[in-house]
Amino acid sequence: MSVDVMTRPAVLILLGPPGAGKGTQARMLQDKFGLVQLSTGDLLRAAVAAGTPAGKQAKAVMDAGGLVSDDIVIAILNDRLAEEDCQNGVILDGFPRTTVQAKALDDLLASTGQRINAAISLKVDDGAMVERISGRSTCANCGEGYHDTFKPPLADGSCANCGGTELTRRADDRAETVASRLEAYHAQTAPLIAYYADAGVLTSVDAMAAIEQVANDMSKVVQSVIS
Ligand code: AMP
Repeated sequence: MSVDVMTRPAVLILLGPPGAGKGTQARMLQDKFGLVQLSTGDLLRAAVAAGTPAGKQAKAVMDAGGLVSDDIVIAILNDRLAEEDCQNGVILDGFPRTTVQAKALDDLLASTGQRINAAISLKVDDGAMVERISGRSTCANCGEGYHDTFKPPLADGSCANCGGTELTRRADDRAETVASRLEAYHAQTAPLIAYYADAGVLTSVDAMAAIEQVANDMSKVVQSVIS
């Protein structure tokens, strides 16, 4: 079924190494533009927690900081994209991470008459990523992300968004695993910057700036491609 050009939902892709701020920015764009944030990392962590067959296969790879197989990730993303709320438009956070995934996404969108509105590359210095990642925590109740230095929770340690008192740290945010994740990014995901530049949809933002500044820059990009 083809989707009318005027009404087809927006598809945005966020590219950047672990720690670049993709999740933080995707949540802001979700709230501001009414799009749905789709994080394959979150979907995989949910599959691991639920003990599904895909989750069982993915767990060891995720713990080691490698990339889960394309087949598993593409299947999980396809299922999620088919859900009703995605008809408002999506922000892909952490997908695609390989050329095989990028081509699978192109094929899927072509089959529904959709296209990628923008791929936004978050430019950062690798050296700063370990510090950014090692200070991260997430509210177990609402999913809001925090950082010990750059975005601390309230003084009593609770979530400023929902008041939740349990903030968790990801198992793969340990310094040893972060090095593997950065390596996987450079070997398998960074080539997608050229892929989307060739497709004419790439924009870069300086993601070393303060969170609010990056959010402003990204909002301008999104505004220009979805209106
Ligand atoms: P993230 O939350 O995006 O940092 O992802 C956490 C982990 O989930 C990654 O280190 C990978 O092991 C796995 N993962 C998430 N998205 C993908 C993807 N698109 N392709 C392969 N593995 C992924």
